[in-house]
Amino acid sequence: MNAANSTQPRPSFPTRLARRLRRELRRPFKPLLHWLRDRQAPSLHHWMMHEAAVPIQPTRKSALVIAPHHDDETFGCGGLIALKRDAGIAVSVLVITDGRQSHGHVAGVDLDAMVETRRRELLQACSILGVAEQDVHLMSLPDQGVYRLGPEEFQLAANAIAAMITALHPQELYVNHRNDRHPDHEAVFRLVKEAIQIANVPVDLLEYPIWLIWNGPYRWNTTPDDLKGALRLDVRSVQDRKNRAIAAYASQHAILPKGFLEQFTQGYELFFRHTSL
Ligand SMILES: [Zn+2]
Repeated sequence: MNAANSTQPRPSFPTRLARRLRRELRRPFKPLLHWLRDRQAPSLHHWMMHEAAVPIQPTRKSALVIAPHHDDETFGCGGLIALKRDAGIAVSVLVITDGRQSHGHVAGVDLDAMVETRRRELLQACSILGVAEQDVHLMSLPDQGVYRLGPEEFQLAANAIAAMITALHPQELYVNHRNDRHPDHEAVFRLVKEAIQIANVPVDLLEYPIWLIWNGPYRWNTTPDDLKGALRLDVRSVQDRKNRAIAAYASQHAILPKGFLEQFTQGYELFFRHTSL
């Protein structure tokens, strides 16, 4: 790895400070902003899907789908995974965090048990989509802790992902959007980009949105550039199976915003091709 080309593990201090201030200023308005978000996000998603995005055909390339949490792979790429597996194409899934904090704010939840529950849900969802247990990999970094990794931990994690990329040698790599408006998701993107540089193998990198459209306008910092170049994959033929895989994540449904899951049940999936590797 060329250190000069190394991806920064964390945003700079002024950027972090500005984000913190923005969060504090927003706090009193949160209920109103959430109310507005939950009403505007479906319209923005519909526009992205049906007017902004360019249709694409599925490829016959092998794939590694990287998800920050157990469920992101299914929400963002469940249809793509099922289509590839139906065509006999190799697909592996790598989940980066242990998922421990999904209910960290809910009193009385056993977080150790939640880690195990989410692992079981992941295997069930992947099985529904056609990915066998031996092709599902867990990295178990701390949930809500990826964006807090220090430089050394960041490098170790990037090295581990690079080793997996080298071993699996996927032709396509899918990871959440670079600005997915969730701190762990954005940190996972930085990790994966660093890992690709370390592995130094040719791979097509595609980004899938999970929180980008839902949280983007609400976080006030999504730009038109973030939404530019959207691609739309028709997954209607496997949507029923994707819906069953989404249903497998029963532990997560109650904590997601109202209407959020409908983004992933519309028969199409959105991707963005990353061109600056
Ligand atoms: Zn996630």
